[in-house]
Amino acid sequence: MNINIYNIVKTTKVLGPGIRYAIWFQGCKRNCKGCLAPDSRRFDKKNPVEITTIITDIKNTPEIVGVTISGGEPFEQKDSLFKLLVEIKKLNLNTIVYTGYSLEDLAKKEENIKILQLIDLVIDGEYIEELDNNQPLRGSENQSLYYFSPVGEEMAKSIESLKEREIEIEISNENIFFTGIPNDKHKKSFSII
Ligand code: SF4
Repeated sequence: MNINIYNIVKTTKVLGPGIRYAIWFQGCKRNCKGCLAPDSRRFDKKNPVEITTIITDIKNTPEIVGVTISGGEPFEQKDSLFKLLVEIKKLNLNTIVYTGYSLEDLAKKEENIKILQLIDLVIDGEYIEELDNNQPLRGSENQSLYYFSPVGEEMAKSIESLKEREIEIEISNENIFFTGIPNDKHKKSFSII
């Protein structure tokens, strides 16, 4: 089974506590004003990566404490998301998943509950530009942290205690990739929007 991937960053310190492996799923049906990754929304862009390949890569990155999954919209590839989380769980790594859906909406479907039970911490809700208040690790004020395990609770506390948003920048020959949620100052400095 594979995942249509927007990007992978093997190590980051700005998408949750500790050093983390980050995966962005490709494809999102929303059209949030001010979306920082419009290219991640496209469903026609195909970059399928086998889950076994991702898991091997994760195993080869021993410095990480967990995995952060974002998008795009991870819940648009539910079967792959479920399988990926099952495999990550076997490695004893914690998980954070960003979704544009509200937890309330996700919880209406049995298939989503099966997925949520595998996640330590969910950050839910679409990005609402008018509610962007520069809080760390969340794009806008409507987004909430929900934990489903003791480690998830620890991570939620740690995120709540952060004072500022941080980003990392990766420059390659082909492009520049920003990891993390930029604050107003970052956006201005790097002309992100
Ligand atoms: S949910 Fe995220 S990826 Fe989708 S349109 Fe909104 S900000 Fe962009």
